[in-house]
Amino acid sequence: MDLSQILPIPDVMQAKRVIAFSPHPDDNEMGAGGTLAKLAQTGTEILWAVASDGSVGTEDNATSTNSLAAVRRQEQEDAVRLLGGYGVEWMGFTDTHLRDNPQSLEFKVVKLIRSYHPDFVFCPDPWLPYEAHPDHRTLGHAVSTALLMVNFPLAYPETGAAVTAPSIAYYGSAWPNTTVDISDTFQRKLEALMAHKSQFIPPFDQQIQMYLTLQAVSLGESIGVARGEAFKVLTHHHLHFNVDAWKS
Ligand SMILES: [Zn+2]
Repeated sequence: MDLSQILPIPDVMQAKRVIAFSPHPDDNEMGAGGTLAKLAQTGTEILWAVASDGSVGTEDNATSTNSLAAVRRQEQEDAVRLLGGYGVEWMGFTDTHLRDNPQSLEFKVVKLIRSYHPDFVFCPDPWLPYEAHPDHRTLGHAVSTALLMVNFPLAYPETGAAVTAPSIAYYGSAWPNTTVDISDTFQRKLEALMAHKSQFIPPFDQQIQMYLTLQAVSLGESIGVARGEAFKVLTHHHLHFNVDAWKS
């Protein structure tokens, strides 16, 4: 059976209004920076929703969580400016603690979708095998859950009126079904990622750029372009009781 004939996979490049959910400052840039920049260039309005403050992302024990959170806030604002984003919504959770507050996180995700009315959302794929970071798994699950709730007026009624469920583009997916040509925005993706200076200390800054370049070249080859970025794109219909969704 070809599932796409019954439930077509939407074209992510047709997105007009996007919320890009990120567990920490820098994840959207790493997973989707080229595509988000390309969408912004075509007039798509993109809100960065950053779930946690990134306050433990350092190996430097001379840094405090408060000062790191302030640095990362500025780095994120700079990166969004480089990629042409509309702005940043700080969701207010503490780094590594998303799993302590799953319902509160879902509540905030539903509220954001109901107030911003995106036709597409981005987030990490929570079903990535070997994904050990709890914030990535928890946020991916929360956004996926929200897609099943936002169109039901009786679900989370205190978060606002029901809206049409947006489609979803998971980045960092083991089973991507969509590759976007990011040849024109790949350099901008790297610049935006490197704006997170606290996260990319030499020689890791060079290593990560080399890795992302090889990855983008390989994905680009699969669709006959210079650079690519891959996603698992689904609708909310695929996200419940659908045993074929992971293959589509
Ligand atoms: Zn992260």
